Amino acid sequence: MKLAERMGRIGTETAFEAAARARALEATGRSVIHLEIGEPDFDTPANIRDAAKRALDRGATHYTPTPGIPELRAAIASDATARKGFAVTPDRVVVVPGGKPVMFFAVLALVDEGDEVIYPDPGFPIYESMARYVGGRAVPCPIRQEKGFRLDPDELASLVTPRTRLVILNSPANPTGGVSTREDLERIAAIAREHDFTILADEIYGRILYEGEHVSIASLPDMAERTIVLDGFSKTYAMTGWRLGYAILPEALVTPFSRLIVNSVSCTNAATQWAGVEALTGPQDSVDAMVAEFKTRRDLIVDGLNSIPGVSCVRPAGAFYAFPDISATGLTGAELADRLLNEGGVSALAGTAFGQVGRYHLRFSYATSRENIAEAVRRTRAVIEPLVEARRGGTVR
Ligand code: PLP
Repeated sequence: MKLAERMGRIGTETAFEAAARARALEATGRSVIHLEIGEPDFDTPANIRDAAKRALDRGATHYTPTPGIPELRAAIASDATARKGFAVTPDRVVVVPGGKPVMFFAVLALVDEGDEVIYPDPGFPIYESMARYVGGRAVPCPIRQEKGFRLDPDELASLVTPRTRLVILNSPANPTGGVSTREDLERIAAIAREHDFTILADEIYGRILYEGEHVSIASLPDMAERTIVLDGFSKTYAMTGWRLGYAILPEALVTPFSRLIVNSVSCTNAATQWAGVEALTGPQDSVDAMVAEFKTRRDLIVDGLNSIPGVSCVRPAGAFYAFPDISATGLTGAELADRLLNEGGVSALAGTAFGQVGRYHLRFSYATSRENIAEAVRRTRAVIEPLVEARRGGTVR
């Protein structure tokens, strides 16, 4: 069958493939610790699950309005107004099945063939995939460990051209855990105003933050009218399987997004939307408890990794990933990820799953138990130590 030419340009998210590979190894009887997939290991809180059950029993089994039920749009608007530092009205909120569709729709709505999309490298792989899929030019902006994994506004400015249409930001970031400061964002906002491009601000990890404040670039002067805020329920409320996310949009994009929704999914699952209302308006203590636990785990994994010779790991301020530099092992992240899985029974992702800048990194998701983290560090040490010793001794294994 002849596929459309654009299908040759679409990428993928390797986390799902790595998880399948790890499960296949497990099926042969091997013990594998899963640090590859980016989802909270906690269950969705009971009050949220109960709200969905009640909604189903009440008959929330039909189509909903395309941009979402009014109750959820209102709840998102008031939550975002309180947390993101700018006034969000319900008419600017569109509800979609997960955070990912916001990327898809933003790119479809804004990017013509040959337009440039600047995205973080390393960064979530779907940014580049979508930009290339629609015929745009995907321009990586390097995110460097020596800059604490914060996107450097000067480096961004050097990449902007008259064809720059969209700049994608992600803070706190996957896969690095890097967090942009207010000052960084002010400088990026100034570049956006000067060169008149739109920003897609992926804030899906906005509440999984251990130090500092979460700043939305949309809260800076005039920026709400040129920023698409992507957020959702997957990470904050441990709701990855529910598929519930949203965009906060400049006025000019509300109708285009609604068109894209009606042309693709019609609307988001009705009962899931009621679960979202409960998530935002109900008690928040399970979010606080989850973030506190992630922080403990972060310290466990970062200290553990840094105690392994040849591994250098920044302590991330947000999200639930560690992104160590493993160049001293003499292997690339991809080579080491293979060895870790096959020799050590630890499933991590190669940094290149997130772009070329991550060539000598691994990504470990620490959304797993403390016991698993401790054991994963032990196994990782057992694989890496001999490699580093062999190099120091002048013999390369
Ligand atoms: N943005 C980033 C940076 C992510 O890491 C993810 C999921 O891993 C998403 C968006 C997508 O979230 P969702 O599962 O809600 O589509």
